[in-house]
Amino acid sequence: MAFDNRRLAQLANHDAFLQRHNGPDADDIAAMLESLEIDSMDSLIDRTVPASIRLGRELDLDPPRSEAEALDYLYRLARQNRVAKSYIGQGYYDTLLPAVIQRNVLENPGWYTAYTPYQPEISQGRLEGLLNFQQMVMDLTGMSLANASLLDEATAAAEAMALCRRANKKVKSNAFFVAEDVFPQTLDVVRTRAHYFGFELVVGPAAEVAEHEVFGALLQYPGESGRVHDLTPLIDAAGQAGIMTCVSADIMSLVLLKEPGAMGADMVVGSAQRFGVPMGFGGPHAAFFATTDKLKRSIPGRIIGVSRDEYGHTALRMAMQTREQHIRREKATSNICTAQALLANIAGFYAVYHGAEGLRTIAGRIHRLTTILATGLAQAGVKLVHDSWFDTLRLTGVDAGKIHGRAMAQDVNLRYFADGDVGLSLDQTTTAHDVAELFDVLLGEEHGLAVAVLDEAVVNQGLAGIPAACERDSDFLTHPTFQRYHSETEMLRYLKRLENKDLSLAHAMIPLGSCTMKLNATAEMMPITWPELARIHPFAPQDQVAGYKQIIGELAAFLEEITGYDHIAMQPNSGAQGEYAGLIAIRRYQQAQGEGQRHVCLIPSSAHGTNPASAAMTHMKVVVVECDDNGNIDLADLRHKAETHGDDLSAIMLTYPSTHGVFEESIQEACEIVHQHGGQVYIDGANMNAQVGLARPGDFGGDVSHLNLHKTFCIPHGGGGPGMGPIGVKAHLAAHVPNHCVRGLEGVAADAGAVAAAPFGSASILPISWAYIKMMGARGLREATQLAILGANYIAGRLSAHYPVLYKGANGQVAHECIIDIRPLKNGSGISEEDIAKRLMDYGFHAPTMSFPVPGTLMIEPTESESRYELDRFCDAMIHIREEIARVESGEWPADNNPLVKAPHTMTDIMQDHWERPYSRETGAFPTTAVKAAKYWPSVNRVDNVQGDRQLICSCPSIDAYRD
Ligand SMILES: *Cc1c(COP(=O)(O)O)cnc(C)c1O
Repeated sequence: MAFDNRRLAQLANHDAFLQRHNGPDADDIAAMLESLEIDSMDSLIDRTVPASIRLGRELDLDPPRSEAEALDYLYRLARQNRVAKSYIGQGYYDTLLPAVIQRNVLENPGWYTAYTPYQPEISQGRLEGLLNFQQMVMDLTGMSLANASLLDEATAAAEAMALCRRANKKVKSNAFFVAEDVFPQTLDVVRTRAHYFGFELVVGPAAEVAEHEVFGALLQYPGESGRVHDLTPLIDAAGQAGIMTCVSADIMSLVLLKEPGAMGADMVVGSAQRFGVPMGFGGPHAAFFATTDKLKRSIPGRIIGVSRDEYGHTALRMAMQTREQHIRREKATSNICTAQALLANIAGFYAVYHGAEGLRTIAGRIHRLTTILATGLAQAGVKLVHDSWFDTLRLTGVDAGKIHGRAMAQDVNLRYFADGDVGLSLDQTTTAHDVAELFDVLLGEEHGLAVAVLDEAVVNQGLAGIPAACERDSDFLTHPTFQRYHSETEMLRYLKRLENKDLSLAHAMIPLGSCTMKLNATAEMMPITWPELARIHPFAPQDQVAGYKQIIGELAAFLEEITGYDHIAMQPNSGAQGEYAGLIAIRRYQQAQGEGQRHVCLIPSSAHGTNPASAAMTHMKVVVVECDDNGNIDLADLRHKAETHGDDLSAIMLTYPSTHGVFEESIQEACEIVHQHGGQVYIDGANMNAQVGLARPGDFGGDVSHLNLHKTFCIPHGGGGPGMGPIGVKAHLAAHVPNHCVRGLEGVAADAGAVAAAPFGSASILPISWAYIKMMGARGLREATQLAILGANYIAGRLSAHYPVLYKGANGQVAHECIIDIRPLKNGSGISEEDIAKRLMDYGFHAPTMSFPVPGTLMIEPTESESRYELDRFCDAMIHIREEIARVESGEWPADNNPLVKAPHTMTDIMQDHWERPYSRETGAFPTTAVKAAKYWPSVNRVDNVQGDRQLICSCPSIDAYRD
């Protein structure tokens, strides 16, 4: 046939996503290679990636699809989910995300591509959003301090348990009490955590809390089947017995209910999901964690604090010191790093937009409709298990089978208890019409109840389901921020004003080593707000979630091929949670082999702080392995320590390529040494962006790895979360990955506990990674990796004449990131890595990673998405800064009065009437003419961080703290 396939292929290629995802074009690549004096991409890779670990073939993936094709296909899959009306409740509720927030925050790269706000001067917008979130949580819970989100309600409860143990100095017992009316998935996660902390769990009726000798207790409010009762007497009695109490609370109910703080709780946790964040088959959602003032030094997670800049203007920053408790080895009870910043911002904005009055209307309506339902059911002779409620009822003595049949016919999802009871929870989306439909479903058509008539009956009853002792009598959301932005115009401008303060990927490259800030393509992001993906309850019946199953299954298969592992477990909500899940899999496996005594975890000194924290959380003893002068793991030391710990050796945690940005030649040997001594190999997959398509951890010795889908696989960083940290495991570990008590997972041991509240973690963002892989294809993914390596080497090449580049591989190449050493400069000029980081803001850039893994350095990771134009712009800025440093070195500019130490420059600076600096205003704010063309203005001057805040590593502790 006269059919030119080649031309057709070219036609298809015209749309190839690969060309959109990757920054450099063919000319750029040629020029970059030439600057490195390397003749081809292949020889660059040959010089960089050890031959012994190379994959040697293309990944076996389907041919790439264009953006349109991939979205088409994904939509077909999404439509296999059935959006039913969900009354399942159990911690997840349908909600109405205000459109102004959906479009301007959730769907806006100005918000979702930002990085964790470690550089406060260019993050004031999202810091303010997170502060709103904290304020909202404090007000609603009645506590004096709240953090800026945790991963989900269940892990927040587990963190609370750990905090109880740390803070309780009175009770020596190692037992923790959980009330039996806590959500089952919360109990599941708490149980896993307790097991590895060596805590005994006592589960019983809440009323018996004070009868047990326990260090802490978890109560739920309202109870999981809807009961609302005053916890004050229980909390009092517990307090008398020296027991600390944590209340897991429903945030919407707190609008009407007496706040747990007023009942004396020491901690309050919960999920902010129903404040505008779609259920998304389980996440992502922001959990909250609030404490009394007494516990403020020990609260886990990030806390935003109000501080001042150099002019004394209010400036926000993350108050890091509060998390330093994790640095002390035996107290490393939390490994939280990536959290849920974007979702916390959305929930906070939901409260800003509605204000206290709006929330009272919403919660009041939910309660009134529930009361109508309860009243009607009582009239019809149905027995309710509790005589109090906010939004949840539990019906007993009913014919669950019949109800189920009618419910399915109406696409109505209810909660079915094992004992035949039926439960249901109403939410913000429930209407009077829905309540009428519920009567039909619950009672059959002949019930004769009329919602309008019932409404007349309940309207004068006030908060009929809420006991008087539980009625809220305090104000909340009284701060002006929660009163000013109730019109859409005001809200739109508020959101825009905050967005404009922040620097995101929409402005410039964010060259964060280890964090892989690559393109989050619009096409990848579009599906997350499709109702077929967004409005699915995580415990929806299996036949309603076929689309999700297919998407998750396909993504798992892609990731298996990419990593060389046999199985992918999709539950962990972050890299750190993946580490935790992976180490548990190792421990469970060794236990099953009769080698439960193995408890030593070797970790190189260069490891990311989450590694030792996760090891400590699985009750392992961390032994630090030294690195040599080239940054490579010291094999002699490794061999020695593996031998010393012999029968006790459980695992090693290695990052590959190393956190020093080098493909270590000895990786296989290191894995073999550990295997020889009966240990397992955990490979931290945060640096997968240097390997995809070139090498696979499952091939060169890994038994298990986590993948940071929010780094390598395009889930945006969201200003500090969401994320997903699925783990890949070899077959022998597959039965030991997390399971789930509500939705059991196939192929996993029944007694394997959960590490997250939802069976597939933050399922609704998995389509982002699915779409990325689908659109890139095997060749695209490999080329992306090659370009990431080329970009880093290009930067290292350009900067090496100006700054010492630390650590290179055997042939003088770096991997996908490079470290420049600022210490020698600091000795000569007093200029620190922090001064450079702040000065980069004047040039419109976000700083690289500061002082990780080596203090006094900057780690730069360009990623494949940055064009040569952008890489050059960055290098030019760095070189220009080096010239500025030279003027300090020469004494031309005093050490305490120069554009570096005064950086960043704000409008306040350059508008001053008096300018007493040895450089011009123009030099300060427009260091190069290029900057003038597109000036980004930091909104505050340098925020004065205390010394202890300098070594910031994704908010996690430094490995040095674990040394003997
Ligand atoms: C980011 C990172 C982690 C932690 O991942 P989170 O998703 O933030 O929990 C672990 N190890 C390395 C090397 C990382 O860069």
